[in-house]
Amino acid sequence: MLVRILGSAAGGGFPQWNCACPNCRALRAGNFRGKARTQAQVSISPDGHSWFLLGASPDLRAQIEATPDLHPRHTDEKDSRQNAARHSPIAGVVLLNADLDHTLGLLSLRELQPLRINATESVRRILVEDNSMFAMLQRVPGQLSWTDFVPGTTFPLLDPSGEYSGLRCRGLSLGGRYPAYVPPSRQSEIRIGEASLGRIVESNTGKRLAYLPAVPQIDDVLLKELGSSDVVLFDGTFWSDDELTRIQGSGQTAYQMGHFPVSSEDGSLKQLAGLAGPRKIYIHINNTNPMLNEAGPEYAQVREAGWEIAEDGWRFEI
Ligand SMILES: [Zn+2]
Repeated sequence: MLVRILGSAAGGGFPQWNCACPNCRALRAGNFRGKARTQAQVSISPDGHSWFLLGASPDLRAQIEATPDLHPRHTDEKDSRQNAARHSPIAGVVLLNADLDHTLGLLSLRELQPLRINATESVRRILVEDNSMFAMLQRVPGQLSWTDFVPGTTFPLLDPSGEYSGLRCRGLSLGGRYPAYVPPSRQSEIRIGEASLGRIVESNTGKRLAYLPAVPQIDDVLLKELGSSDVVLFDGTFWSDDELTRIQGSGQTAYQMGHFPVSSEDGSLKQLAGLAGPRKIYIHINNTNPMLNEAGPEYAQVREAGWEIAEDGWRFEI
């Protein structure tokens, strides 16, 4: 399985348009030791030819352009059945939640390219039934088709024509928070366990990728899942629980936003210290997180603990 990290920041990206935190200020001033990042986006492929997107970030158009693997291939062969100028290696999308950071990019995929979107029934209904703009994705037969899946069950990733790609997926139910835009009437109809998922992707050779950009708690079930993975892409949103409230003077804590902080007595660095098997990578890093600063002690602490900090453009094979 091939993995490409197209974007590694949390919602808002780094720097964030309306943020003057120490990180964003230093980056704009050109004296930050660390890299700018677009909003979290991962793509996976069984063979390097067809690719599946895990989520669809608001930065998706630019992320595709920055990634030659995802560019359309031109063919000179004249085929009356197909438009030779239109093609995409992107075969489908797997959604983890209905957050705007994770779904707005779907609207950038509206140019009539056949794609399959896998989502829970709850997330599909929020997007398609409550948000009329998503009708642009279903203007003609054979455009974007939606496939529902149930958390906890394994399902195959299929290309738009229904052919099995060689990758299987399973959703881990990780939290009951739906985005604030979902009205109470809809919230009362949908299932709480479908709100926010982690993702386990498995290849035909049994290699496993765990993708968990939003983790509200760590328990034994989750530890077991992580322990049996080859690569873990884990929630690196906030360094500390009070990071945002300290910088903004108000707002929510990391835990209240459904993100386990990296540091502190019960943070993920400590909780996952015994996780020796998989390659461990923090992703979905908020622009305020001090571990983005490669000259700082937080960066050194994370690296010494055996963790990596994801960067846009990374490509690796599992
Ligand atoms: Zn900032």
